[in-house]
Amino acid sequence: MNNFFGDYTSINRSRIEAIIKKINDRALECRNITTDTTKITIDNAGTPMLVTKEEAYFINKTNEFRKRLREGETLDDIMVEALALVREAIRRRIKDSNGERKEMFPYDTQLEAAISMLGEKYDETHRERVIAEMKTGEGKTLVQILVAYLDILEATKSEDKKEWSSVHIITANDALAKRDQKNNADVFALLGITSSFVPGRSATRTTDPAQMMINKIKKQRAYVCDIVYATATTIAFDYLEDHTIFSQKDRSINRPLGYAIVDEADDILIDQATNPLKLSQRPRPNGSEYDKFLIAREEQKRNLYKWATDFLYGKIRKKPMTGKIYDQYFDNRNERFTEEYAYIKDTRQIILSNRIQDEIGADLKDTPEDNELYNARYFALLDCIKAKEAFHADVEYRVEVKDGKAKIIIIDQNIGRKKYSSKYTGGMQEAIEAKEEFLENEMEGSKKRYHIDFSTTSAIKAMCTYPDFLSMYEHHVCGMTGTSDEEEFRNLYGFETYRVRTRKRNIRIDEEPELYATLAEKYDAIIEVVRKCALTGQPVLIGTTSLRESQIISSLLAKNFIRHQLLNANNEEEESQIVAGAGMMGTVTVATNMAGRGTDIKLGPGVRELGGLYVIGTSRNKSSRIDLQLMGRSGRQGDPGKTKYFSSLEDDLVREHYKGSALEGVIKLYSGTKKPIKNKKIIEAARRSQEGRESKDKKIRLDNEKFNISFMRHRRIIYENRDEVLNSDLLGFMNMIKRIIVKYTETLVKNYTKEDIKKLIGHLVPVDTLYDNDNNKFTENLINALYDKFKQNFDTKKVKNKDIQVYVDNIKRKFLEIIDLYWLSHIEYLEDLKLSASFSMGSDPFKEYEVTCTRMFANELIPSMYNEMITYALNPEMKFGTYKMQTVEREDEEKLLL
Ligand code: ADP
Ligand code: MG
Repeated sequence: MNNFFGDYTSINRSRIEAIIKKINDRALECRNITTDTTKITIDNAGTPMLVTKEEAYFINKTNEFRKRLREGETLDDIMVEALALVREAIRRRIKDSNGERKEMFPYDTQLEAAISMLGEKYDETHRERVIAEMKTGEGKTLVQILVAYLDILEATKSEDKKEWSSVHIITANDALAKRDQKNNADVFALLGITSSFVPGRSATRTTDPAQMMINKIKKQRAYVCDIVYATATTIAFDYLEDHTIFSQKDRSINRPLGYAIVDEADDILIDQATNPLKLSQRPRPNGSEYDKFLIAREEQKRNLYKWATDFLYGKIRKKPMTGKIYDQYFDNRNERFTEEYAYIKDTRQIILSNRIQDEIGADLKDTPEDNELYNARYFALLDCIKAKEAFHADVEYRVEVKDGKAKIIIIDQNIGRKKYSSKYTGGMQEAIEAKEEFLENEMEGSKKRYHIDFSTTSAIKAMCTYPDFLSMYEHHVCGMTGTSDEEEFRNLYGFETYRVRTRKRNIRIDEEPELYATLAEKYDAIIEVVRKCALTGQPVLIGTTSLRESQIISSLLAKNFIRHQLLNANNEEEESQIVAGAGMMGTVTVATNMAGRGTDIKLGPGVRELGGLYVIGTSRNKSSRIDLQLMGRSGRQGDPGKTKYFSSLEDDLVREHYKGSALEGVIKLYSGTKKPIKNKKIIEAARRSQEGRESKDKKIRLDNEKFNISFMRHRRIIYENRDEVLNSDLLGFMNMIKRIIVKYTETLVKNYTKEDIKKLIGHLVPVDTLYDNDNNKFTENLINALYDKFKQNFDTKKVKNKDIQVYVDNIKRKFLEIIDLYWLSHIEYLEDLKLSASFSMGSDPFKEYEVTCTRMFANELIPSMYNEMITYALNPEMKFGTYKMQTVEREDEEKLLL
């Protein structure tokens, strides 16, 4: 779809082509740069360095570009020269994907992609955000180097190295990141640029403290390199973790997030956009006060879920609760349901009868504490009903018993693998554990074989999604993908898409897709095609949409004596290698679509003559973009190739879309013919099921983005506060205390009566004696009294205790714990709110959500947090969690915005 000004690609193509031409004009000049290997000493940003004459030339050029940018030239001014230079550096130093030196000189199409990704200047400090769509096999890996070089010049132009950012090259998986960094390192080195690879967390997991320390140091070193290769998951988690630490020396990323180049951008920004990354930490029993607090809270939660489970299964009341299951929300709202609860499958919503709502509070009084307990019971009961109705052992999860202790292991619904390190969130983990414990040990006739090994729920300490992580990069984010969804990239994230033409004409043959009535007929047809290929030796890559389907296909192939390799998404590195070999003669490879993504499939000898790689899709993916991604595996760089898609009316996608309709009848009508369905209407209807899913998913992502706005703003404020506490020196710390006191006191005086203020801070200073009719005077008096009290403490400590730093560090540590605690509860609050907002029937649930959570943040969270911080700063001996802020009733909540 075109935007108002026309299509981004066509608008920019001539500008970009003009730049390419100028770069080509310089190619010869660059080629003549010396290759002299005599060693000389150069001055590299103040440090002498022994290098060859060749290296000296490139490094000096890099420094010259930095200087010119520093002195006011723009990236556009130096673009031609810099790209010509890095292109030459690639020619001299690049290694191929197999790790061996190979002369590669970036093609014009690669320059085109790079220039488009650099975008045009947008305002003083930003450039446009562009995604280059470049087909598989066209050489995106080299493009990253081109863009990264220009970005790093900008990122490191300052004379003050403390201001430098890195350029993060974000790749699809660890194996690729590692390989690319290794193959490209020499190019960067020639240009005087350092590069590194940061391995994922699972690769470096250890419990050995010494090893942990070594890993940390390695990681810190990697992150201060200029170019950093890693996956989005790795960097996002390291970034989140950096905001949960208690000492600056534990920080992993010591350069600000500034520049990111995202490979396979559609995967992270669209397919995985709504997958939240949650950093959780398990509190230790003898850890900090904060840990102890979390453990106590956990205990409370567990008792709550035990209570709700007992209630549900009739141990607290006389008999188990009765419920009715509905497929969809009541069409007729007035329908009376006579059971005690209704469970709506479609939305996983639960409705409790009025009688039950009364019953769960029968033993409670009308006090604030009991009201809170009532709410907690209510929500726990909902979770427990959900655990009963929607989560089944051996389907959604497994109970694994070892030495009489049982654990709940989640089963990944997409690929069927057990997810050992995952847990359900919200209250679901507790609800399921309580259910299993109950069923095993409390049900009549149970044999008491095991007890659940209750997971200490690790508290979520930080959370983000991929898109929201990328939004934290300050200066320039760009990306590349084989298949872009132009409209969605623009609407969701403001990325323009530039489509790079393929270098050679695409001669791939996409055969007519075939639709069958039943799965069995579809599979038969697929096997038939594979068998024919196997006879000639034409390699086949079979892409499935799930691990389950991979296994079905694999066993059918085996039954037909067709040799093949099956990938099950277990080992990235190994799979990359297997996928790379999928173009050899006689090879049949079965893989889910994601396996080995980003790996280049070269054709083996003789395969070209057989028609190239044959790619078969076993069913339509949840979006046509992913279908295209798979098809793009064939016919790379002008190679011959073939693709064919199969689907059936029994596919999940179709079933999901037409559930409860006449679909079953149609299937019956056509089944058994063993021929593809020719009826246009039915083909069209099947196709619509994919569109239906696409638009459903798009809406989810859009909603998610809208919900995210407030969350991101709040996180920014919290992280700023946290960073300030963490980084401040003694003087900075004193200033910070003063500022918090000022801000807090001003808000108090503006919004509260004297009596309320007495309630809030009367335990700290004598409010009565400080009172003045003049509000300004009153504020001043309070500020002075609070600050004096703090200073007083501080001064006596200073006399008593020479080690003032220890004293301050203690307060700082407590501050961090307070911030974390409030932030944690806010995250949970937002999650709950989001859930209720998405069920809300109001006119604009996003607005409602935004108003509610902003009010909560500004009126409750920040003032309470400051109050608690001030209380501790003035009474550092106070124990954690013993002080609970007094709340006072307010008429107009909006007034308290800080
Ligand atoms: P993509 O990521 O776009 O699918 P790759 O970066 O994996 O593509 O590159 C595909 C193949 O093309 C690799 O084997 C790479 O070595 C090769 N290649 C890329 N650019 C060039 C070039 N300029 N000259 C020669 N070979 C190239
Ligand atoms: Mg690639």
